[in-house]
Amino acid sequence: MQGLSVKVRGTVQGVGFRPFVFQLAERYRLTGWVRNTNSQVEIELDGDEAALDGFLRDLRERAPPLARINAVEIERHAPSGFSSFEIVASELGGGWGSIPPDTATCDACLAELLNPSERRYRYPFTNCTHCGPRFTIIESLPYDRPRTTMRCFSMCDDCRREYTDPRDRRFHAQPVACPACGPRVWRHGGLGEAAAEDAIEVGVSLLREGKILAIKGLGGFQLACDAANGEAVARLRGRKRRYGKPFALMVPDLVWVRRLCDPTELEIDALTSRERPIVLMRRRPQANVAPDVAPGLDTLGLMLPYTPLHHLLLRGFDGPLVMTSGNLSEEPIAVGNREAVARLADIADDFLLHDRDIYARYDDSVVRVLGDAVVPIRRARGFAPDPLALPFTARHDVLACGAHQKNTFCLLKEDRAFLSQHIGDLENLETLEHFQAALTTYRRLFKVEPEIIAYDMHPDYLSTRVAQEYPLPGAVRVAVQHHHAHIVSAMVEHGVSERVIGVAYDGTGYGRDGAIWGGEILIADWKGLERVAHFRYAPMLGGEAAIRKPYRMAAGYIWSLCRASEAEFAPFIGALPIGERIILRRQFETQFNTPLTSSCGRLFDAAAALLGVRTEAVYEGQPAVELEALADPEADALYPFDLLRAEQGWVIDPAATLRALWCDYRAGRPIPLIAAAFHNTVVAFTVEACRAVRDKQGFNRVVLSGGCFQNALLTRRLRDRLAVEGFEVLTHRRVPPNDGGISLGQAVVAYALTAGD
Ligand SMILES: [Zn+2]
Ligand SMILES: [Zn+2]
Repeated sequence: MQGLSVKVRGTVQGVGFRPFVFQLAERYRLTGWVRNTNSQVEIELDGDEAALDGFLRDLRERAPPLARINAVEIERHAPSGFSSFEIVASELGGGWGSIPPDTATCDACLAELLNPSERRYRYPFTNCTHCGPRFTIIESLPYDRPRTTMRCFSMCDDCRREYTDPRDRRFHAQPVACPACGPRVWRHGGLGEAAAEDAIEVGVSLLREGKILAIKGLGGFQLACDAANGEAVARLRGRKRRYGKPFALMVPDLVWVRRLCDPTELEIDALTSRERPIVLMRRRPQANVAPDVAPGLDTLGLMLPYTPLHHLLLRGFDGPLVMTSGNLSEEPIAVGNREAVARLADIADDFLLHDRDIYARYDDSVVRVLGDAVVPIRRARGFAPDPLALPFTARHDVLACGAHQKNTFCLLKEDRAFLSQHIGDLENLETLEHFQAALTTYRRLFKVEPEIIAYDMHPDYLSTRVAQEYPLPGAVRVAVQHHHAHIVSAMVEHGVSERVIGVAYDGTGYGRDGAIWGGEILIADWKGLERVAHFRYAPMLGGEAAIRKPYRMAAGYIWSLCRASEAEFAPFIGALPIGERIILRRQFETQFNTPLTSSCGRLFDAAAALLGVRTEAVYEGQPAVELEALADPEADALYPFDLLRAEQGWVIDPAATLRALWCDYRAGRPIPLIAAAFHNTVVAFTVEACRAVRDKQGFNRVVLSGGCFQNALLTRRLRDRLAVEGFEVLTHRRVPPNDGGISLGQAVVAYALTAGD
C-alpha cells in the first residue's frame, strides 16, 4: 500500500476530467479524492503500486477528448487511509487555469437530439461533458455552474441525477439542461406569433420563403437566408451593407459539402473537427448557390452545424444557408436579445431568440488549407481561448494590443500565450468596447497582470493609443515594427528563436523610415530585424484612397517605376476619367497625400487593375483574391524582374514584370495565364532574393508571414520552390498569417527586448 499526490495542469476543467479520474480510480480499486482548484486538478490516492502505475499511465493516455494535459506533478508518500474515492468541492486559490473553447455537438448528443424516445428529442440546448458551450458562458474560474450564465436555470431532478452521477456522460457538465428545466428558443418578430415549441420549424419555413432570420447562436447572433435564393442573398447584402465580401454557408452534412465543393481529405478533417470552422474550399463550377454569395471567387466558405439548434435548422431546411455574423458591416457581432433586436431590426425579418446568455462574444472561425496545413484565417470560436505553448517561460506578464485590421490581443503568462479571439478592425467605438471587454475577461480568467505592454509602431492606430493609455502605470511600453511582429509570430509557433530570413508580405505596415512597408525580406530574431530586401517604393496616389481604387496604384507604378516605358501604358492612363487623371497626375508631381510604399498587396492591386480584373475594391485584398481565383494553377510562365543591389541589401524592382504583364494583356493572352505568370514572378524574385541573402549572410531558414500568405497559390508555390533550393521553410499552423496573428509576435518581441535573457 502506498500514497500518491498528483497535480494535473492544462485544459483539465470543464472537460469531464474529474469523472474520468473517478472512473479510473474505480477501475484500479484506488481510494482517495479528486478536486478542481483555480489552476489545476488535484488528486490524492491510496493503493498498491501496480494499480497506481496503471492509473498514472491511463491518466495521460485515456484522458477525455477535450482535455489537454500540459504537466503532471507526482509525489509518492505513505498511505493516508482513505476508505472510498470521492469527488470533493472545488478549492478556490490564487492560481490560474485554462478554459476549453466551445465545442461542436458530439455524436452521442446528436443521437439523443434526433431520437423521439429520448427526453431531449429536438431540444436545442442538449450538451454533455464532451461538447457544448464553455468559454462563451463562463464569467470566472473555477468552472462551476454558479459562475456561468447557466446559474439562473435550476436543474430538474432528472438533470441533477445525471449531473451528480460520476458514471454519467453529463457528470458536472455545467450547461446541462433539458426541456423541463433549461433554456428555451422562441420567435420574436413582426410576422405573427407561433407557439414556442415550433419556433425552429417556423424559422425553417420563413427561410424557405426567402426571409432573413437572425439566430442567437453560440458566441453571438447570426444572420441566415437561403443561399440558393439570389433575391434573398442580395437583400441581405443590401441591408447589412456588406458589399463584395463573400458570405459563409452552413450546410446540413458532408453530402451537401460535396455537392458544392470538391473537398480534399485535409479539408474534410477541418470541416468535421471539434472546432467546426468555416473552411475555404474550391467550389464546383455547377454549385447551386446564388452568384452573390461569393462574387468573383473560385472558393466557398462552408461549415457544418455545430450546435443542436443549427442541426435542427439545417435538417429542416435541407440545403445550404448563408450564415453570417449578426452585425452591420464593420461592427462587432450582437450577443444580447434586446441588443440584437435593436441593432438588427432593419436587417432581419424575424428572430430566433433564446434565454441562455452569451458572456463572451465570439465569431465563427475561418480556416484554409495552405500548403500542407490547415491554417486559421480568422481565429475565434473553437480555438480561443486555448493557449499556445511558448518555447520559454515568461517571468513577467505581457499584453500586446495587436494591429489595426483583424485585431486580436495577446497575453503572455508563464509558458503560455493567450491569443484572443478575432476582435475586428479597430476603427469604431463598438469594436473598441469589444476589445476592452474581452481583455478584461481574459485578464480576470487567467489572472494576468501585465508589466510589459506591446503595440504597433504606427502612431495613428487606435490599438497604439489603447496601449499607451492603458491604465497600468508601472508597465514598460514597447513599440514593435509590424513586419518584425509578423515574422516572430511564425517563429514562436515553431519554437524558433535563432535568426531567420523572414519574408513578410502584406498590405500595410508602418516602416521604420515612415514609409508603408509590405514587401519585406528581413533577417530577424526576437530582438531585432535587419531589412535586407524590399520591393521598390511606389507612390500611393491619394494615400488610403489608392487601396479602394487600385487603378491609382497602377498609375503610381507607371509614372514612377515604369517611367521609361510610360508610352506603352498610354491606353491604360487614357482610359481613366479625365478629372481623375488630372488629380492623380498633380498628386504624383506634388507628392501631396502620396505616401511611398513597398507593399506586396499594393503590387497585386496594380496588376489586377492593369488586367481590368478589378479597378475598384470594396475590401482590402479583393483585387489579389480575385487575381488568385483567376490564375491557372498549372501554368508555369514567368515575367522578368530586377533585383537591384542597394546600399544595404537588395531592392526588388517589378517594373519589367508590370510591363510584360501589360504587353501580354494588350496582345490578348488569356487572363488565367497572365495571372499565373504574375504569381510565378513574385515567387521567382522572392526565391532569388532569399538566395542572395543566404549567399551573403548564410541563413538557410525562411519564415513566411503576412496577409499575402492567405493566398494558397502563392504560399504553395513559394514554399515548394524554396524547398527545391534547399531552404528550410516555416509557415503558420495555428496562428493567422494576417494581422490577426501579429499580437503574438509583438508580445514576444517586447518581452525579449525588456526582460529576455
Ligand atoms: Zn455531447
Ligand atoms: Zn432538466
